[in-house]
Amino acid sequence: MLLLLPGPVQTRPETRAAMGVDIGPWDDEFRAVVAALRERLRVLAGGREGEHVALPLQGSGHFVVEAALRSFVPPGGKVLVPVNGTYGRRIERLGREAGRAVVTLPCPDTAPVPPEAVAAALAADPAIGHVAVVQSETGSGVVNDVAAIGAVARGAGRRMILDSVSAFGALPFDIGAHPECDALVFTSGKCLEGMPGLACAVARIDRLGEPGQAGSWCLDLADVYRYALAAGWGRFRFTPPAQVVSALSVAVDLHEAEGGSAVRLARYANNARIFHAGVRELGLTPYLPAEQQGPVIVNVRAPDDPAWDLQRFATLLKTRGVMICNFYTTETPGFRVGCIGAVAEEAMRYALAAMRSVLDEMGLRRREAA
Ligand SMILES: *Cc1c(COP(=O)(O)O)cnc(C)c1O
Repeated sequence: MLLLLPGPVQTRPETRAAMGVDIGPWDDEFRAVVAALRERLRVLAGGREGEHVALPLQGSGHFVVEAALRSFVPPGGKVLVPVNGTYGRRIERLGREAGRAVVTLPCPDTAPVPPEAVAAALAADPAIGHVAVVQSETGSGVVNDVAAIGAVARGAGRRMILDSVSAFGALPFDIGAHPECDALVFTSGKCLEGMPGLACAVARIDRLGEPGQAGSWCLDLADVYRYALAAGWGRFRFTPPAQVVSALSVAVDLHEAEGGSAVRLARYANNARIFHAGVRELGLTPYLPAEQQGPVIVNVRAPDDPAWDLQRFATLLKTRGVMICNFYTTETPGFRVGCIGAVAEEAMRYALAAMRSVLDEMGLRRREAA
């Protein structure tokens, strides 16, 4: 099966093979793998030794987004969340349910968040201490200019938390060059092309206070840090998904062997370009114009035809060996196709051919020429 999802992604056989063993997580060999992986993840984020640390956390992306909000925005603190899609809205909810005061900056989901709008929102409310923003908005496929938004936060004397979950390992952001950034967060199962199950923050040491502020022991990044200082860099507080950690270590080797994030970004951008152009040739309309299309996920508008049925489309694609999501996250109906993972342009062309055949089988002939 060819997985064309924006996470979990298609992985390489070497990565999957690392899962096939039993592991004692407190064993010395495994602890050495964890300690080395943490250093490599810090370096990949541009984190500086002695200034930043990689703090792994069991769970999916939401867990570490919430952990970062709880650990860096103090109770009673106010956070500005620019929302130009589903994942921005999820930060809003995670912050509210954690009891932080959340101010949203609603923006259309078809364009990046304008940094000037962030500047205006910060100027209007001096009580806002943090901006929490998504780098690659997986909801629509738009990429936000988080370097510019970070510069705005810095200029206004505020802090930033970056949801880099669908970006890290491909899109650039150098935390070492962004002292306003308390933490950037990501997971094992997206652009790093590992298996799902491990989340991670790369965070500023000087912003990690005493454990307890998070109001959740499980999601307290300050406690993750204190524990590592006391017990060693190879230790987790609670049982880790050890096989996922091992697989991520192999996936990071493969990331390096491929040439790093810039080479990976070029492969994904090429995938997205081919797919975006290809769906237009099928008579379908991409959700975003080519100028706004990011490299991670291409959303396509549902054909304006009563014969359209997303579940049926996804099921029929599966019979042709292609797996896409059976839900959409744009403001209007459509389908979403991930361009990340261990896939290159042949996979995108294969998926386009499969889609042509499924659209024909579904009798979707009244497709507007885009
Ligand atoms: C995938 C994703 C997340 C986290 O999703 P999980 O299902 O919890 O891993 C958060 N933010 C963005 C932008 C994402 O793409």
